[in-house]
Amino acid sequence: MQPLNPHLPVDNHGYYGRFGGAYIPEILHSNIEHLEKAYRRWADDPEFKAEYDRLLRDYVGRPSPLYRADRLSEKYATNIYLKREDLNHTGAHKINNAIASALLAKRMGKTRIIAETGAGQHGVATATVCALMGLECHVYMGATDVARQKPNVERMKMLGAEVIPVTSGNSTLKDATNEAIRDWCCNPRDTFYIIGSTVGPHPYPEMVAKFQSVISEEMLRQVPELTGKELPDYVVACIGGGSNAAGAFYHFIDKPGVKLIAVEAAGKGTDTSETAASIAVGTEGIIHGSRTMLMQDDDGQIIEPYSISAGLDYPGVGPLHAFLADSGRVEVEAATDLEALDAAYELTRLEGIIPALESAHAMAILQKRRFGADDIVVINLSGRGDKDLATYLANRK
Ligand SMILES: *Cc1c(COP(=O)(O)O)cnc(C)c1O
Repeated sequence: MQPLNPHLPVDNHGYYGRFGGAYIPEILHSNIEHLEKAYRRWADDPEFKAEYDRLLRDYVGRPSPLYRADRLSEKYATNIYLKREDLNHTGAHKINNAIASALLAKRMGKTRIIAETGAGQHGVATATVCALMGLECHVYMGATDVARQKPNVERMKMLGAEVIPVTSGNSTLKDATNEAIRDWCCNPRDTFYIIGSTVGPHPYPEMVAKFQSVISEEMLRQVPELTGKELPDYVVACIGGGSNAAGAFYHFIDKPGVKLIAVEAAGKGTDTSETAASIAVGTEGIIHGSRTMLMQDDDGQIIEPYSISAGLDYPGVGPLHAFLADSGRVEVEAATDLEALDAAYELTRLEGIIPALESAHAMAILQKRRFGADDIVVINLSGRGDKDLATYLANRK
C-alpha cells in the first residue's frame, strides 16, 4: 500500500521509526481495521474534501489569519507571526480534526460519537460538530478537569452532549482516555471514537495529523504573502499529545531550512515531580495503544503528570513527536507554569490577545531563545484564553 502521507515519516503499520504502531486488545482489532480502511478510502476523496473545506471556510472561519505581532516583534528584535487558531469557531485548533472525523463517522454509518477531553476544548469541538451533524455525543472528562474547566462543561451540555466525569487515577486526561477506549470496546458497532490529539493506536496519530495539516498548508501561502520570504525560519508550537504541533509542522517536516520547536509543559520544573514534559523526563513505553515517550516509573506504572494547563496535562506524547525529537528534526523545550503565565500576560498587554494557557507555553519560547533580526518566527497560537480566565485571575500580575 502506498503511504497516504508523503509528508510524514510513517510506514503502513503506523510506525515512526520505532515509535507508534497499534498495541490494542483483540476486541478492538476490527474497529481499528474498519477505521483505517474508511480513512484510506475517504481522506483524499474529492467529495469528502469539498465538504470538509466548505465547513472549514464557512463554519470554522478559515483560513485563520497569520498576524504579525508588531509590538512583540519590536520587544524581541525579530519578526513574530502568530497563526491565529484562537480565532476558529469554538476557540482552538481542535475543531479542524473534529469536523473531519465526524464526516468520516457519517460515511461509516456511525451514529454515536465518543470523545475524551482535558481542558474541554476537544469535548466542546466534538459536541459542536455532533450538534451540527445530528450525532449522539458522549464526552469522558476527568473529574478534576470537570471542576477546573466549568465553562467548557456547560458549553458541552448546552450543545446536547453527555459529559461523563471520570474519577480513576488523577481524574484527568489520561484517565478520561482510558474510559473512552473502554466504551469503544463495549460498543464497536455504532460508535466512532474521535480522539482529540495525535495519540492512540494507528491510524489515529497519522489521521489526526492529516486533519490538522490545514494549519501549515495555509502558512505555505501566508508566509510568502506577508513576509516576501518563501518559508519561515522557525515554527513553534506547544505540545500536549501533539496535534496542533503536528498541524503546524506537517508541510515543513521535509524542509530542513525550517527549524521546528515544540514546547512541552514543565509544570513546576522538569527537575521536580510535578511536570508533564513527557519527552524531557519520559522513557519509551506503551500508552493508549502506541509506543512512544511517556512518564513512567521503573515498573512501567504511569507517573501522574502535572501542569497548570489542563490541555497539556498528559503523561505521553504522540509517536510522531517522539520520533521527530529522537531524530533531532524537532527541538524540544519545556516551559514552566510561571513562564507560561508570564508569556500570557505579556501577549495580552502588548497585543491585546488573551491566549489559552496551552498556547502560552509556545509563547514562552520568546523568554528562552534569542531569534535573529531577519528571522521569521511563526508561533502557533493554538487557542484562546476565555476558558482560563479564572486561572489567570488567580495568578494575577
Ligand atoms: C488541546 C489543546 C492543546 C494540546 O493538544 P495538542 O494535541 O498537543 O495540540 C494545545 N492548545 C490548545 C488551545 C488546546 O485546546
